[in-house]
Amino acid sequence: MVLLSRLVPFQGREPTNVSRMAARVCVVGSVNMDLTLDVDALPRAGETVLASSLTYAPGGKGGNQAVAAARAGAQVQFVGAVGDDAAAERLRAHLLDNGVGLAGAVGVSGPSGTAIIVVDAGAENTIVVAPGANGRLTLAEAAVRAIVGDCDVLLTQLEIPVATAVAAAREARSAGAVVMVNASPAGRDTSALAELAALAEVVISNESEADEWPWKPSHFVVTLGARGARYIGTDGEFVVPAPAVAAVDTAGAGDVFAGVLAAHWPPHRGANPASKAQRLRALQRACAAGALATLVPGAGDCAPDAEAIERNS
Ligand code: ADP
Repeated sequence: MVLLSRLVPFQGREPTNVSRMAARVCVVGSVNMDLTLDVDALPRAGETVLASSLTYAPGGKGGNQAVAAARAGAQVQFVGAVGDDAAAERLRAHLLDNGVGLAGAVGVSGPSGTAIIVVDAGAENTIVVAPGANGRLTLAEAAVRAIVGDCDVLLTQLEIPVATAVAAAREARSAGAVVMVNASPAGRDTSALAELAALAEVVISNESEADEWPWKPSHFVVTLGARGARYIGTDGEFVVPAPAVAAVDTAGAGDVFAGVLAAHWPPHRGANPASKAQRLRALQRACAAGALATLVPGAGDCAPDAEAIERNS
């Protein structure tokens, strides 16, 4: 087992280690308030049970990935929607505190995205997600489209309307950015996804959802939990191992992996094409970051900083 240096908690308002060449990442995605209830046993239909604790924590795949990319040292803009409820302010504050730009975040009337997570004594859980504002995210405003077009790497996922992810991918691609899609959650309409697939250069999926992405992008990355990640694409096919860790909570590891991969993926810059070595290095950092994320409970606040990623990759 590789001994991991102790994870340094993230403390500053600004991302650490921002170099002049830090990638500009735009994340177009969801943000949720996660309500977690701890119970002895999950309630059966019609039953009421008392929870021993209730916690509120910022989550959602888009927000989690934006925070991970920023902590890894990228300049990040988040394009997403929050509601007009009490959660909205906390969700915005969490992103800002992590150095994520909110110029492209919009407010809509109604509730913010909310997830109710009920966890029993054996760590089994049931989750209900109300997409709320996430379901109403569009790129209708020109100012928002301009932010999407002004990045090196666009990262999007499937917790927002697929049509919005497609519009973002189209905007970013025509501006010369790398389009990266985290194909999760699975189960979205295949014909809409085909349009997204045609625009995506890098696709990230976890092992259990990978079969639901039948297309072949230039770079397909399948995360394998403790085993790391498999790469299939123009560089061949190989597995990048993750450092061995004593994981305490794997929730959010996939989001950290995606955010860090976006932060380190080589952009289309100038005449020099990106190299296989640069892509491999990005994958190694993403694998290390995913492993570090499993050492911290919760999904929304488990991303390591740039220094911890470098030390462990
Ligand atoms: P998801 O959370 O989307 O199911 P994975 O479980 O595949 O994604 O985890 C994403 C990444 O996090 C992996 O590729 C790996 O780098 C890291 N990771 C996850 N679980 C572990 C673990 N138990 N030990 C080490 N690394 C892990």
